[in-house]
Amino acid sequence: MSLKNNDKQVYDLIQKERKRQAEVLELIASENYTSKEVLEALGSVLNNKYAEGYPRKRYYAGNEIVDQVEELAIARTREAFDLPIDWHVNVQPYSGSPMNLEVYNALLEPGDTIMALDLAHGGHLTHGSKVNVSGKLYNFVHYGVTAKSERLDYMEILKLADQHRPKLILSGFTAYPREIDFEKFRDIADKVGAIAMADISHIAGLVSAGVHMSPIPFFDVVTTTTHKTLRGPRAGIIMCKDKYATAIDKSVFPGSQGGPHENAIAGIAVAMKEAKTAAFRKYSEQVVKNSKALSKALQDFGFRLVSGGSDNHLILMDLTGKNIGGKDAQNLLEKAGIILNRNMIPFDKRSPMDPSGLRLGTAAVTSRGMKEKEMSKIASWIAAVITDHSVAEQVKEEVKRFTKNFPAPGL
Ligand SMILES: *Cc1c(COP(=O)(O)O)cnc(C)c1O
Repeated sequence: MSLKNNDKQVYDLIQKERKRQAEVLELIASENYTSKEVLEALGSVLNNKYAEGYPRKRYYAGNEIVDQVEELAIARTREAFDLPIDWHVNVQPYSGSPMNLEVYNALLEPGDTIMALDLAHGGHLTHGSKVNVSGKLYNFVHYGVTAKSERLDYMEILKLADQHRPKLILSGFTAYPREIDFEKFRDIADKVGAIAMADISHIAGLVSAGVHMSPIPFFDVVTTTTHKTLRGPRAGIIMCKDKYATAIDKSVFPGSQGGPHENAIAGIAVAMKEAKTAAFRKYSEQVVKNSKALSKALQDFGFRLVSGGSDNHLILMDLTGKNIGGKDAQNLLEKAGIILNRNMIPFDKRSPMDPSGLRLGTAAVTSRGMKEKEMSKIASWIAAVITDHSVAEQVKEEVKRFTKNFPAPGL
């Protein structure tokens, strides 16, 4: 309440953002509505504490309590992901981007070869983009999906790995709508003697709930953000086999970070406890059901989906032939209260600033209790707006009324 009285400017902006989040259909695949409890941990006095180092090995005094916070976050992460006894967890990465760089820095030398998914086919900036430090420091070789199936072809990945002999093979995606066969990645890594790393930032919630195959039984290192399908605070975590633990911990601190954000780490603890509940498993199952329902409904309206559908929380729509590019479609749908982002599709002929695709995700709308029936409604609005641009304002009003019936967690 003191922000309201003492800094009206910031208070009002937060209230406006709260209202915006309540009144739109949030379909950005990397977003979610975290719980009030996670927000409470984030906004707590834990923010005040410096705790450079690791529990019981800190460089500052006064860490008796935050040590317990961090140990709890680690213990709960182990449970949420069923980590084997010989795996290690680091919950200190500030977010997903530093987390991945910290792994490379721990296990590789500059110039070493990493194999990862092409950005245009759904990789992340930290997977070797030319504009990202990862692409400057390491020699990235990119694999892609096939033109025909728009899915990963594991034989092709093996061929490429055999040719380039990477030190590390990365399986991680931001726009791949299909199930990933982590066991096949392990075989490829074994055949060429590479470290197998999975970045499950997008699907972590689904993996924890058991609705997507887990890479942990097969991989050496697994990284994830905690704010996407996992529905926690903005942060990153690294899980790895014990033999990499020392190198990973040193790379996070002091290798690239200073004091950990113990308020975010408390948020991780809260989110990992939530992830172990039956309610979260049910939620995650519904995320996938909704993604399939939304896919089907969009296809019924004549939209082409990359790979022909979805196995997870994510859908990639191809607007080719619809007389509108990704950028205009994104802006137009925003006017209608439907929030999503433009995205490259595999073998896109358009530019990254105005690509042919739209990426949609069902994690956030499912957190509001929406089900298959509501997905049909959403698809009909998207189709209406893209067919007749003049209905955007009217749809916005309908969306506003509609969303009132589905209160979002944390708002
Ligand atoms: C979101 C994401 C990241 C980066 O996370 P930030 O918190 O935005 O830095 C890294 N890798 C993948 C696969 C992601 O989806």
